[in-house]
Amino acid sequence: MDNIQMVDLKGQYLKIKSEIDTEIHKVLDSTAFINGSIISDFSRNLEKHLGVKHVIPCANGTDAIQIALMALGLKPGDEVITTDFTFVATVEVVALLGLKLKFADAVPGTFNIDADKIEELITPATKAIVPVHLFGQGADMEKIMKIADKHKLFVVEDTAQAIGGTYTFDNGNKKMLGTIGQIGTTSFFPSKNLGCYGDGGAVITNDDSLAEKCRQILNHGSKVKYYHDVVGINSRLDTIQAAVLFVKLKYLNDYQQARQKAAAYYDNALKDSKHFIIPERNKKSEHVFHQYTLKLNGIDRNDLQNYLKEKGIPSMVYYPVSLHLQKAYLNLGYKENDFPVTEELSDIVLSLPMHTELTENQLEYITKTLLDYAK
Ligand SMILES: *Cc1c(COP(=O)(O)O)cnc(C)c1O
Repeated sequence: MDNIQMVDLKGQYLKIKSEIDTEIHKVLDSTAFINGSIISDFSRNLEKHLGVKHVIPCANGTDAIQIALMALGLKPGDEVITTDFTFVATVEVVALLGLKLKFADAVPGTFNIDADKIEELITPATKAIVPVHLFGQGADMEKIMKIADKHKLFVVEDTAQAIGGTYTFDNGNKKMLGTIGQIGTTSFFPSKNLGCYGDGGAVITNDDSLAEKCRQILNHGSKVKYYHDVVGINSRLDTIQAAVLFVKLKYLNDYQQARQKAAAYYDNALKDSKHFIIPERNKKSEHVFHQYTLKLNGIDRNDLQNYLKEKGIPSMVYYPVSLHLQKAYLNLGYKENDFPVTEELSDIVLSLPMHTELTENQLEYITKTLLDYAK
């Protein structure tokens, strides 16, 4: 089987090469490498796509979370509740800002934060909840927004893995992920569902005043050049990256469908296996499959990964160690067995190749190889 990859950026690029190259060359000709006009063209288009008032581009998805927390005015000692099962970026900025991290366990089915474990963590110092829409599927926003309203907490949605996904509330109100809380954040890292060809990210909000604060913070705390009213950072999306995103945004719906089609193939092929547990769906959220992640049952993960590798099939473990057991965060005082669900997940999850270019032949080969192994 030819060259199966976790993410096929090359194949995707070749299909839109002429459009991408044209837009990048326009940037080269203009030499407006910073603050070129296509940055706002892209941002306005993404606003339309998401149905939101403000998309504020920045340098990466990690900065986006930091900018969001700064714009909300969070101060050292304020407490932030987030999931123990996410990429480290979500919690790193909380720590860097001197805020206090409070982890909640995940739910075993969707891997997202267990909303029923949030309320018990709330203290008078709690200021925000940061749900992560992990692997492309919405966290339990119905419950999270109710808890946040009741306790007057901010909600910052880490949408780095789920841009384009939706959530439908019990009252029928359907929203794009990232537009539900006060602020959403996303990443345009190349392998993300809407990825550029380097680093990029954005803050998303319907709140005019928060939008203005975010724009100021990421521009050295400045609204008027060389006048700095607050301490800020330098976090820009550069023009070449915006040119790539301007083109790729037109294809986001197609890309999403390709991912969903691949996921449906995996589901169908593996659903009757007792060894490979297919990812559970949150019925209220449209899953956009940043990752397709299985839970292994009675299978040695290392051995399986080696077998797949020999057969030319890459696989990845997102994430092998829960955050509360990472060396950098041991000072929070958590210990083993504090979060049994994430600890188990980190031992049994396995992500399969997931991208926009997977062919039916490849999917057939991958799933047959898996089923052969478990026979
Ligand atoms: C990728 C990712 C980020 C960080 O994005 P970068 O652009 O790489 O800084 C944050 N949170 C989650 C959940 C991610 O997957």
